[in-house]
Amino acid sequence: MLILVSNDDGISSPGLGALADSLGRIGEVFVVAPDRERSAVGHSLTLDVPLRVNPLGNRTFAVSGTPTDCIALGVLKIMPSKPDLVVAGINMGQNLGDDITYSGTVSAAMEAALLKIPSFAVSLVANGDYHFEAAADFSAYLAQIIMDRGLPPYALLNVNVPNLDPSEIRGAAVTSLGRRHYSEAVLEKVDPRGRPYYWFGGNDYQWVHEEGTDIEAIHQKMISVTPLHMDLTDYDLAVQMGKWKIEFQPAQR
Ligand code: MN
Repeated sequence: MLILVSNDDGISSPGLGALADSLGRIGEVFVVAPDRERSAVGHSLTLDVPLRVNPLGNRTFAVSGTPTDCIALGVLKIMPSKPDLVVAGINMGQNLGDDITYSGTVSAAMEAALLKIPSFAVSLVANGDYHFEAAADFSAYLAQIIMDRGLPPYALLNVNVPNLDPSEIRGAAVTSLGRRHYSEAVLEKVDPRGRPYYWFGGNDYQWVHEEGTDIEAIHQKMISVTPLHMDLTDYDLAVQMGKWKIEFQPAQR
């Protein structure tokens, strides 16, 4: 099994190392990751500057671009053939619910899905004192399941793991994306020159508590596995919009 591993925390992240080590026990791993931290770059693809690939030996490559760049270059240029699986992580921080479209980690897995390669993202729900063991072990376990069962085209999995000792984790659950309250998420301060500045993402995450969501699973000390799909079309709304009678014709001039 040929596996491409990437992340958005950068090539030197211990989470990336833990993931590559774990997956290295079940397949041949190539690591293609950003040369510096690129968290929260979303699904951005670099179009305005050339990209450099720095081989670091042992099938490991640092790229001067985003996680999405890494997947595209890894698959199309660096690896000897198309990988059987792409795994992004282990992200040092959660990627839950409404936040996932900001995530470089999840976007790396999305890029793989667009390239029709089975993929998942894996993130540790922590902001310090990281315990990668359970996330690393679960990643190898899930990789085997995906190899046995496959994933449908354009599907991917988003995995979040509680930052606990493996013995404390109560299992894994298939979940849906939770929702976040956005109130008071922007901090406003004043700089030394008297001008206001703004900072996103305070520490107070306020979540809507709903059964079956990823955030609930984490609260229950369970590993959350959310299936995602790259077709963002709202088919129900598309049917309703048939009644809108959108029949615009540009005026003849
Ligand atoms: Mn990150």
